[in-house]
Amino acid sequence: MLGPVILAASRSDKMRRFISAAPGTKQVVDRFIAGESVDQVVPVIEDAAAKGLEVTLDVVGEDITTPEQAAAARDAYLELIGRLEELGLGARAEMSVKLSMFGQALEGGHELALANVRPVVEAAAAIGTTVTLDAEDHTTLDSMFTIHEELRKDFPQTGCVIQSYLFRTEADARRLAAEGSRVRLVKGAYKEPASVAYQSKPEIDKAYVRILKTLMQGEGYPMIGSHDPRLIAIGQELARQAGRKLDEYEFQMLYGIRSEEHVRLAAEGHRMRVYTAYGTDWYGYFMRRLAEKPANLLFFGRSVLTK
Ligand code: FAD
Repeated sequence: MLGPVILAASRSDKMRRFISAAPGTKQVVDRFIAGESVDQVVPVIEDAAAKGLEVTLDVVGEDITTPEQAAAARDAYLELIGRLEELGLGARAEMSVKLSMFGQALEGGHELALANVRPVVEAAAAIGTTVTLDAEDHTTLDSMFTIHEELRKDFPQTGCVIQSYLFRTEADARRLAAEGSRVRLVKGAYKEPASVAYQSKPEIDKAYVRILKTLMQGEGYPMIGSHDPRLIAIGQELARQAGRKLDEYEFQMLYGIRSEEHVRLAAEGHRMRVYTAYGTDWYGYFMRRLAEKPANLLFFGRSVLTK
């Protein structure tokens, strides 16, 4: 019930101003956002590495409104990659990007986003790592998949994300599995209409299993993006049935969510990557985390009221 309301608020400027200014917000934001700057995120990457975890780094931000902001997003990732190179952390850290932050929704946005993301993918490849294109709302996906295909011509390791709540995803998964892509499968975090997406958890979960089976039996590299204990167990079983070795797929979870499970899976010998978001434009990312678990909203409310 609350999830869709929070997701609607995630697109409201008025709510953005209200929530960003509320006392107590920062305390809750800090659970999900690893820091505001590259300097603050470096110790988080080092700590993850010490625990046997890998990371994928997201400089938060989306829905920008000018080409200058899109160029600034590109530069923020280039700065991050430069720091990873200096610190020799390239092999531990991948990048996750949202094409809306690279200008996808602006006029001529498809070309602009491709032009902005290409240097990031190139710089990542130069330090021995790679980039995954996050999946945003369904209206952006044809452009995202085309950009993914374009980038893979020069950088075949470039990954993309698919969402089990969308009806289209089973067909996308078959195509991507045959192409040998790196694919992160998630349930989906946006407010989508019933014309394009399953609305109930059991349907979304069942689709997740069907799609994961396709990915596991295919030619690509599946990345299981979920905190759901049932899906994690099913993922392990599907990998076993497909004869995959431990380094032929990976688990991914979000920073700040089920952290003990990150360590447990890594200790079992699984490749475990923590999606680590940082930066100052955290509002959209934070609101999706609230929407996923309404109990977070209670925690948030308490934190604001006790300040
Ligand atoms: P759920 O059934 O929602 O959660 C299972 C359990 O995990 C819950 O019972 C709870 O204990 C815990 N949990 C889950 N979410 C939270 C939370 N916010 N706070 C506290 N506990 C929680 N979505 C996109 O649309 N596009 C993307 O590109 C994308 N990238 C992602 C990358 C990664 C690595 C992950 C893990 C998720 C990503 N998502 C993305 C979000 C995803 O779509 C889901 O919204 C999110 O993962 C919650 O679904 P779940 O599979 O964890 O299962």
